[in-house]
Formats: sequence, structure tokens, C-alpha cells
Amino acid sequence: MKILVTGGAGFIGGAVVRHLLAATSHHVVNLDALTYAANLESLEGAEDNPRYAFEHADIRDGIRLREIFARHRPGAVMHLAAESHVDRSIDGPADFIDTNVVGTLRLLEAATEYWRGLDGAARETFRFHHVSTDEVFGALAMDGSRFDEATPYAPRSPYSASKAASDHLALAWLHTYGLPVVVSNCSNNYGPYQFPEKLIPLIIARALGGEALPVYGRGENVRDWLFVEDHVTALLAILERGRLGESYLVGGDSERANIEVVRGICAILDRLAPAVHGRPHAEKISFVTDRPGHDLRYAIDASRLKAELDWRPAVSFEQGLERTVVWYLDNRAWWEKLVRDKGAAQRVGLGTKG
Ligand code: NAD
Repeated sequence: MKILVTGGAGFIGGAVVRHLLAATSHHVVNLDALTYAANLESLEGAEDNPRYAFEHADIRDGIRLREIFARHRPGAVMHLAAESHVDRSIDGPADFIDTNVVGTLRLLEAATEYWRGLDGAARETFRFHHVSTDEVFGALAMDGSRFDEATPYAPRSPYSASKAASDHLALAWLHTYGLPVVVSNCSNNYGPYQFPEKLIPLIIARALGGEALPVYGRGENVRDWLFVEDHVTALLAILERGRLGESYLVGGDSERANIEVVRGICAILDRLAPAVHGRPHAEKISFVTDRPGHDLRYAIDASRLKAELDWRPAVSFEQGLERTVVWYLDNRAWWEKLVRDKGAAQRVGLGTKG
């Protein structure tokens, strides 16, 4: 099958593309506008693969999308392209509405037109997988409750509101126009190749630079963490076997307070890359003014995904965090360039996922 992946030069899209090329026989068309968050160096070697094609295109450009559908004739779409950083959405919400809402609308329109023109089996098997976040459900109290597929939407940031809108659009396209849509909502991803504006790579980069390690509030906000490669296996299970018109929640059963995550990174670095000042990295932690509307806690009940599609995360949070820190230590050139050229890790924004 040929899969059109939008946002394949980003963090999760890149992991999807690498997995599709390395572990499946699918063909991949990577459609990406190459915003600040994109990095084609994360896809090293892909261009030499005959099963890979790259299209430098914007999902808001309906004419270009129609041309790409017509030329590549994909059997499925995995839609990951988005503005994804919550702190940026607070500073400049308009781009988030533009890309995440209007862009998704344009993509749905182009996909529907293309799908309607397919015949027989191709039309029957076509899938549009809309990839989204658990942030659409709002915030939980510290009471052991978890989000599931029946949780009402209650987004609270411009980012999550834009993703909520796009989830509704995707499902409306199934109910109104028949487009075969499936949706997934995932918790916080982490792992190699994540842009160092998100909590884990930002803390690693700043610690290795001997800089202060900013943590919002008292670091008490809780997130459920999932190693990005586990998200990829969930996404493929949902694309291939998920029920149309359904949403699947994806999570790692790994709830951690932000301060625990930061201390965990510091402890690994103390072992693998002791600070030049000779003291524990954690001494550099500094608590900064919380961001507005900072959701207290997210937690996921992924029972549907586990029961229906037999998916389980393969990597525990402790293993994943160690692998991630080791990757950033081994791949300094990849992220030091982003710090130098794009000012990554300089913002004291500490979005954990977005
Ligand atoms: P990212 O910011 O790393 O990558 C986004 C990619 O989309 C970039 O390559 C960017 O160039 C591309 N893009 C942005 N605007 C575009 C446009 N107008 N046209 C075409 N391409 C465009 O994001 P990510 O963390 O990899 O997230 C991918 C998707 O998964 C997003 O939809 C996000 O909402 C969702 N998600 C992310 C997480 C997480 O923890 N990172 C968790 C759950 C869901």
C-alpha cells in the first residue's frame, strides 16, 4: 500500500516514516511544509529508498493537495501535520487555527474528492487516519480518573481547541460524506529526534549546556508518557484494523509529574555526562511562573485499543527515558544545530507535548 503521511518531517511523523520504510513494505509519500519544527535530517537515507517520495507542500493549499493525490494515488492518509507546541499557540493562536483547522479541512476536501474517484476495492480499503492528542479532553484532577473514548471534549488552550475542531471535522467527513475516517488521541510522546522546545529534549539540551533547568509552577503537573516508537505501532494498528468512525485513545500507563521527569533526566545525566561544575544536574532546577491555563493532569485509559487491536507499549518509561538521553548524547550534531540556528532550548516555555 502507498501511505500519504502529512507532517512526516516532524517528530512523530518522522518516526512513522522511518518505521514504514524499515519494518513494512508500504510505500510512503511524505507531505510536509517544512516549518521550524521539521527536520529532513531525521529521515537520513530515506531519499535513497525507492519506496519513499517527498512533497514539499502545505496542507492549506487545496490545489496542490489535489495534484499530489492524483499523481501518487495513495491507499491511505496518515494526517500528522500540525502546529504542535502549546506555548506557541498561546503567543500566536492564528497559525494554529490556520494549519490545524483550515489545513485539515483542505486535506479532508482533497481526500474526499480523490476517494470518490476511486473504484472497487481501492475505494473500499481507503483510510483517512486523523492523528490527535489527549489534550482535547481538558484537564483531570489528581483523583485517579482517566480519559477514555466517552470523555467529553473540553479543550482549554488554543492548540487543544484547534485539534478538537479538527477531530470533529474528520469525523463529520465520515458521517456527512462517507470518507472512511478513523481518529486517535495520544498522550505525551517522547524519544529521539524531538525538537528541543518540548520538556524532555529541552531539559537534556539545557543540562548539557550547563544552563538553568526551568520547570513550570512547582512541577506538579502530571502527564502520561509514551515512547514515540510505541505510538507508531499503535498508529499502524489503528490505520490497518481500527473501526471506521471510532476514536482510539493511546497512552503509555506512565503517569509522571513534570518534576519527576526532570529529576529522572538529571539522574541519568549524572551517570552518563556529569556536569562540568561537578555538582548534580538537579541543582540547576529552577521553578518559573506557570503558563496560563496549564492543565493539571492528563491520563489515558487505552483499554479499547488494547482489547480490540491487541496493542501494548513495548518500552517502559524508565527504559524510554534512558534510551532518549543516550540518543541526545550520541547525536549532539542533530540538536546543537537547532539550538544554534533556530534558537531551540532558549525559550523558557516548557510544554511537555505541545
Ligand atoms: P511536530 O511539530 O514535531 O511536527 C509537525 C510537522 O508538521 C512538521 O514537520 C511541520 O513542518 C509540519 N507542518 C506544520 N504545518 C504544516 C502545514 N501547514 N502543511 C504541511 N506540513 C505542516 O509535531 P509532532 O509532535 O510530531 O506531532 C505530530 C502530530 O501528532 C500532530 O498532529 C500533533 O497534534 C499530534 N500529537 C502529538 C503528540 C506529542 O506528544 N508530540 C501527542 C499526541 C498527538
